[in-house]
Amino acid sequence: MNIKKHELKVHNSLSGKKESFQPLNQEYVGMYVCGPTVYSDVHLGNCRTFISFDMMYRYLMYLGYKVRYVRNITDAGHLENDADEGEDKIAQKARLEQLEPMEIVQKYTVGFRKIMGEFNALPPSIEPTATGHIIEQIEMIKDIISKGLAYEANGSVYFDVPKYQSQGGNYGVLSGRNTDELFHNTRELDGQSEKQSPLDFALWKKASPSHIMRWPSPWSIGFPGWHLECSVMSSKYLGEQFDIHGGGMDLKFPHHECEIAQCQAHTNHPPVKYWLHSNMLTLNGKRMSKSTGNTVLPQELFTGENDLLVKGFDPSVVRFFMMQAHYRSVLDFSNEALLASEKGFARLMDAMEKLDSLHSSSSISELDVEGWMSRSLSAMDDDFNTPILIAELFEAVRWINSISEGKLAISKEDLVQLSSFMKDMVFFVLALKSPAKSASTDKLDSAMQLIIELRRGARIEKNWALSDQIRDHLAQEGIQLKDGPDATSWFIQ
Ligand code: AMP
Ligand code: ZN
Repeated sequence: MNIKKHELKVHNSLSGKKESFQPLNQEYVGMYVCGPTVYSDVHLGNCRTFISFDMMYRYLMYLGYKVRYVRNITDAGHLENDADEGEDKIAQKARLEQLEPMEIVQKYTVGFRKIMGEFNALPPSIEPTATGHIIEQIEMIKDIISKGLAYEANGSVYFDVPKYQSQGGNYGVLSGRNTDELFHNTRELDGQSEKQSPLDFALWKKASPSHIMRWPSPWSIGFPGWHLECSVMSSKYLGEQFDIHGGGMDLKFPHHECEIAQCQAHTNHPPVKYWLHSNMLTLNGKRMSKSTGNTVLPQELFTGENDLLVKGFDPSVVRFFMMQAHYRSVLDFSNEALLASEKGFARLMDAMEKLDSLHSSSSISELDVEGWMSRSLSAMDDDFNTPILIAELFEAVRWINSISEGKLAISKEDLVQLSSFMKDMVFFVLALKSPAKSASTDKLDSAMQLIIELRRGARIEKNWALSDQIRDHLAQEGIQLKDGPDATSWFIQ
């Protein structure tokens, strides 16, 4: 694929506009995405963000770019209230579960990777951790202090936002926030605070005696601030200026704003050419969020073990559901929406299965395959518009069905192109997988449908003993039945 032929446009949060994508080094792309804080299971909202960036990573590679994709693991420094106060999220969980902080980190990192694998997301090129880069973080703090843009107070170090502003800095450049307004809307310093201004943020925090995650530094035994790790690890692996920085919208402020300020103070130039932000997954119209408990876990979704669901869904159906929305649109999660996606997904996969058995029947094609491919790519080139791409794929599904029924003629060349393009888009760029259906699962499903029917009969006759016996016996074998309003489904635990 010739990259130059493409006119990829991406929505840059810095300008608020779609811009032509021109990487700093021709065919190379450096992309950094803020990774998870590994103190709990990732919820489906977190997954949406990482799946969105996986799609972009894949499309950039499809276009022929050599992409270095760095996604960190936050294993220290992220405090409870996302600001500079409270306990470290990981240390807090370690205390609650009576485990070593690194056991918590290991447990949830392994869980996160497993889930991302189930969603067919590629691992990033580099997955650095905050605790693995304490020395580099200390070095960056020293440099910012030496430039007069950070100060020490009682063993902690804070970034001096007003001074940064007075020297031409633009704190607010990304989020569009105005520092005067921020100043007035931020809680007054209470006299106890070490900060000179409420806008200042921590680069290093002195650890209290109860704080279990701590490292020596020139200022105190303590730990780095959350924002610092991303500035340090992105510049270490992608350079002081790189192409794409991504994350969920909620990270724009303060996290990404602080990243820009730190890097600008350190190198005197902006770190990132394109800031990309993905939108939120909501549940009942409210953002899915760990702190409010308004979440669905991927595992619950796969098994159906959640009151919101009538059944379990294949990870590819869930991925397809996410790809049906643009990454910058809010997406509301519901059982009904997933059921609709499941139908569409089945139609798509059915057509994909037919592809290899299609026959070309004439040298004159009735189809404009070139035009269709070009429209599909234009959709993706327009800020990764996957819903439009999917609409185009369904145009091809109609063709495939008509060709297979002998109602439409396609030339050999067109068939080769149609087939290889469909596979690239469906299996590589959207990364959907045909659900593995072996002959034995088909047989098991058929036997289970019979058992479910017999149990339904028993219930109609109010033969509760038999109905319970069936359910309990299956449960002993690790097979769970789930009664929905219209039907009963089953899954293996
Ligand atoms: P955290 O582990 O809290 O640092 O979050 C990891 C990533 O998930 C960040 O990029 C967040 O922006 C993203 N995220 C959190 N909640 C949601 C949500 N409801 N929908 C989409 N992304 C989210
Ligand atoms: Zn980050």
